[in-house]
Amino acid sequence: MEEVILYFAPHQDDEVLSMGIGILESTKLDDTHVILCTDGSKSSVRGVLNNNKICPHHFGIHRYELSEEEFILARDKEFYESCKHLGVKYENIHIYKNRTIDGELSIDKSRDIINSYLEKHPNAKVRTITPFGCESQHLDHKNLGLAALELYMEGKIENLEFFVEPYFIDEFKNINKDINLEVKTAEYNDILKAAMSYRVWNPKIGRYAVGYHSTRRYFKRFKKERLAYIHKVEKNLALS
Ligand SMILES: [Zn+2]
Ligand SMILES: [Zn+2]
Repeated sequence: MEEVILYFAPHQDDEVLSMGIGILESTKLDDTHVILCTDGSKSSVRGVLNNNKICPHHFGIHRYELSEEEFILARDKEFYESCKHLGVKYENIHIYKNRTIDGELSIDKSRDIINSYLEKHPNAKVRTITPFGCESQHLDHKNLGLAALELYMEGKIENLEFFVEPYFIDEFKNINKDINLEVKTAEYNDILKAAMSYRVWNPKIGRYAVGYHSTRRYFKRFKKERLAYIHKVEKNLALS
């Protein structure tokens, strides 16, 4: 029987950089949903796009004054295209209707978001970013992971797996020597298209390569290595 798998992404680009290889595999087998939890509005790239400087990523000067709404829309376009290339059906790509402002994803809000999808899919498997990341981990990532962990401990989630941000894998391993990681990879061409959605530059159609301006190093490393790091948690694990 086809199972339901719910992937919760804090921001546009987390679905591909951290979970894309898992999503790619899931979409071949199961009813796979991706849920975006914040609006991604606070990225410094919005300012960068209007800094009057020559940009090394593309020809031209950054003179693009985007309102916050236009900027969010540009990021959502990247997210939709990425999910499409990961094999997610259009109707399974979700932007949570009351998503939070970037940087304000609390544990409580994360619980609300996860719960609302568990109501529709009670036995769904849940996948999101690990809450056990290093000090540099984005608090939105950590809180989303902590919310999933709480719901798992409470028995509301039956099957939970966490993805480690691959760009923080060395830091993660240093502080979590006891956590066993499963490593997955993907064919270059499959994952490449999804990653490249964040590099599309075409201001006429509202495409500003936000992902690439933001974390070009992460994307370069990801394209080169194509690795996902996944871990489970023991139910009896004490929360520290
Ligand atoms: Zn993120
Ligand atoms: Zn640029």
